[in-house]
Amino acid sequence: MTEPRIGILAVQGGVREHERTLDQLGVAHRQVRRLEHLKGIDGLILPGGESTTMSRLLELGGLLEPLREVIAGNLPVYGTCAGMILLANQVLDTRPDAHQLNGLDITVRRNAFGRQVDSFEAELDVTGIEEPVPAVFIRAPWVERVGPDVQQLATVPDGPAAGAVVAVQQGNVLATSFHPEVTGDTRIHRYFLSLVARNTPRL
Ligand code: GLN
Repeated sequence: MTEPRIGILAVQGGVREHERTLDQLGVAHRQVRRLEHLKGIDGLILPGGESTTMSRLLELGGLLEPLREVIAGNLPVYGTCAGMILLANQVLDTRPDAHQLNGLDITVRRNAFGRQVDSFEAELDVTGIEEPVPAVFIRAPWVERVGPDVQQLATVPDGPAAGAVVAVQQGNVLATSFHPEVTGDTRIHRYFLSLVARNTPRL
């Protein structure tokens, strides 16, 4: 058995929180800032941050096409918040020049929860995870359309945004509107690592 190695996209945003979570789980990781950093990874995390800035930096760094290719090639990918926005194939309320990685057949609305509930916490029932998961939302997107091949994993249970879809999966691509990496609860990351293990015969 060898260890999986997880890449964390590190052009902008909350990289350290994901590094800490993977450290907690004893999983090797590497920052992905240039093309060569994609080589040899078994899975990739796209962190939270500012999706339009990330999009621009990916374009400048020549990473857009390579990322689209590894995702189309079935590499397990997990996007949190801005990471979810990048993975979606359609985004509302973004800049017209923002780029998409097209890993998920979903329509996402940026900053969807509005000013009053800019940042909030909720306990979510997540498909495949037994007890409710504490979820932190920070200027988060929600999912407005879910394509036929996309599984909806969690919705907001109550309050003004009740019913909003906030976790989805399509094949090896997982995304959450919220940030499990800031809560100390590692179950979503462990679920992602189970996709990585299933996808990587040597593990
Ligand atoms: N609002 C940010 C964006 O549109 C996402 C916020 C986050 O990642 N916490 O990119």
